[in-house]
Amino acid sequence: MRLIITLIVGVAFLGVLISSATYIPAVQDRLFSRAIDRALNADTERWFRNDGLAVIFCGTSSPIATPKRAQSCTAIIAGDNLYLFDAGTGGWEVLQSMGVPAGRLQAVFLTHFHSDHIGDLSEANLMSWIGGRQAPLSVYGPTGVDRVINGLNEAFALDNEYRTEHHGKAIAPPRTAGMSPIVFEGAAPQTVFERDGLKVTAFPVDHGPVKPSMGYRIDYEGRSVVISGDTSYSTDLIVAAEGADLLIHEAQANHMVKAMQETAAEAGNTTIAKILEDIQNYHTSPVEAAQAANDAGVDWLVLTHLTPPPDNPVAQRIFMRGVSKVRPRHVKLAEDGMVIILPKDGDVEFAKP
Ligand SMILES: [Zn+2]
Ligand SMILES: [Zn+2]
Repeated sequence: MRLIITLIVGVAFLGVLISSATYIPAVQDRLFSRAIDRALNADTERWFRNDGLAVIFCGTSSPIATPKRAQSCTAIIAGDNLYLFDAGTGGWEVLQSMGVPAGRLQAVFLTHFHSDHIGDLSEANLMSWIGGRQAPLSVYGPTGVDRVINGLNEAFALDNEYRTEHHGKAIAPPRTAGMSPIVFEGAAPQTVFERDGLKVTAFPVDHGPVKPSMGYRIDYEGRSVVISGDTSYSTDLIVAAEGADLLIHEAQANHMVKAMQETAAEAGNTTIAKILEDIQNYHTSPVEAAQAANDAGVDWLVLTHLTPPPDNPVAQRIFMRGVSKVRPRHVKLAEDGMVIILPKDGDVEFAKP
């Protein structure tokens, strides 16, 4: 007993000693310099050693805010290149904090132009430009993407000029500044990108009244990932996702949204109650997403664009109610920072955030 008490007192004393040391400027400087060294010399090439596809969930929430999740953002790594599928607010910061090199960004693909899918486009543009991108950033999207991109280019034109003036043309070259919209019609499935072994096929989904609204299928080295975009249960998506290794599907737990709507109405908040009512018919419930994954015969289903964002185990259980009856295995809720590796040969691997 005495030994245990001595140990506890000893550990507590050591803790006080270490924490007191952090008040000494020389110790602070040493710790700070080690942190800078770690950040600057991190092995960023580790992201590109996989021979298949890698998926990084850079934003897994919807317009309902939560400090734990950024808005819609999925990054794909294939070969030496990085691609973004939507760039919702906060998504780019998640990627940056994970040490993914910004200059490797080759293109962005937008599913549609709701604010929760485009809020961080300008951050992705700026940071990949300064990060050494070789050309203006290509942004693919259905009809309307040119309006979005031209507007953002104008909004950030002064910022770009300041950066060039301040840091010089070698660091902020006007030649590679800004974004280039690449428009496709979006009425039918079509291959919109084919380069370096990566094929991206866009297909229309059902997010009415938002039209066009797209999903994307990504194929590389025999592996395939499908991103639903925002949609209600969509048979076009099931066709496009057939046999894919991974389906990343949006999910909205309408049983939870309905309860939120009723509570808002009882509290007299008619605006929130109306919005919560409006959104219930243009998204997919977790059970429907599970059904879509089964219908398409995909290996894994990961749910994202989570509405409402289920940020604790109880909320997650409510969110997933009924899913295991439809799809007992190979289904997961996405988290910000989650990484999935799909090697050219071998099993799908999940890495924790
Ligand atoms: Zn939307
Ligand atoms: Zn959305």
